[in-house]
Amino acid sequence: MQKHFKSLLRLAVFALLAGCAANPITGRSQFMVVPERMAIGESAAAYNAMMGELGKKRKIETDGERTQKVREITDRLIAQAVRFRPDSANWNWEVQVINDPKTVNAFCMAGGKMAIYSGMWEKLKATDDEIANVMGHEIGHALANHTQERMSIAYGTGIGTQIAAIALGARDQTAALMQQAAVLAIALPNSRESESEADQIGIELAARAGYDPKAAVTLWEKMSKLGEGGPPEFLSTHPSPENRAARLKELGERVQPLYVAVKSGAPVEAPKFLNAREASNERVVTKPGEITREEYAKRQADDTLTFLAEPYERFKSAAAVFDCRVQCGFSYARKKGDWKALHDKGAWRDLAVSVMQAGYLSDLSYFMLGEAARGLGLAEAASTYYQRALEAGKEYGCGSGGFSCEGFEVQRQAAAALSVFPTPK
Ligand SMILES: [Zn+2]
Repeated sequence: MQKHFKSLLRLAVFALLAGCAANPITGRSQFMVVPERMAIGESAAAYNAMMGELGKKRKIETDGERTQKVREITDRLIAQAVRFRPDSANWNWEVQVINDPKTVNAFCMAGGKMAIYSGMWEKLKATDDEIANVMGHEIGHALANHTQERMSIAYGTGIGTQIAAIALGARDQTAALMQQAAVLAIALPNSRESESEADQIGIELAARAGYDPKAAVTLWEKMSKLGEGGPPEFLSTHPSPENRAARLKELGERVQPLYVAVKSGAPVEAPKFLNAREASNERVVTKPGEITREEYAKRQADDTLTFLAEPYERFKSAAAVFDCRVQCGFSYARKKGDWKALHDKGAWRDLAVSVMQAGYLSDLSYFMLGEAARGLGLAEAASTYYQRALEAGKEYGCGSGGFSCEGFEVQRQAAAALSVFPTPK
């Protein structure tokens, strides 16, 4: 009993220390106490249990035109998803069609476990473009770690109860609690912010995969007319219907050129991402000459989502100049804690975007951009940013006032890096 109590206490302390993290895709601060690996593992367990139950009741559609279509659509979406989150190339992506003609819904858990209900066709008469947009939205939730976020909230609130239960001599139910959190995470509505993130990511994934972004609006219109039963996930937490329609239309117009380009270009060769199960949950076997998932993700990775493209382009062209201190201080304090981890992972694009979003004038900001540019092979931008780091250090050193430089010796390291590059003009 005491051992469990101690480990839970440690978890609770850990939760307080490591509670917030900036989302690598959107930069928004999220409450994260459940580690990602755990969110993915527990989601898979909850998913398998759910599909097992439904399978026994013969509620899973195993083949047929609809299943084929959904697999084809989601595979094309995943091929886009891994461009923005290369680590998701190794997820055990899976999609099932649940035979439940009355339910209009779909979901994607942490780690890419997806399902869509047959009511999407039976009740909604959804087109392929609409299916792609709803699945894109659900995949958007997974890419932006929304399952992990909601599990953290569900689990965070459960910790107090759990400690009380153990103190009273109850059995350790951590694993059960965790799976419950995973189920809750797909059952509970997302926040408005999360929904808007999923809209942005989803519509772009669909457009890049060759599905009409205008279908997001028609899908929304069809769903909002349904009225009966609980709201589908795609509709939830969007309290102002007119705004949602207008917003989807606006997002659609922004990604329309991507859709047009795909429709008029040659099809891009991409590996299959959905066949993990057939390969007995092990590594996917690639035929000689065929591109692997990892190679594909790596090759595609130097690209970013449209809504992040503007700051990313500015970063790449060495044009980032910061002058914000007071107003950006909070954002900087919140985000800079992630920079070391992104740096160590070599997640250069995410690091650059996070620094750009903070927009804070300090030598650490410029040094991080220098490192990101160097990591991406942008020599000229790298030397410009190292130079700016040295200059900013005279007045805006990250270590002044007792603040942390996140373990970097910014001035020394920037000078050392600069000696490798020619000084910019
Ligand atoms: Zn949603």
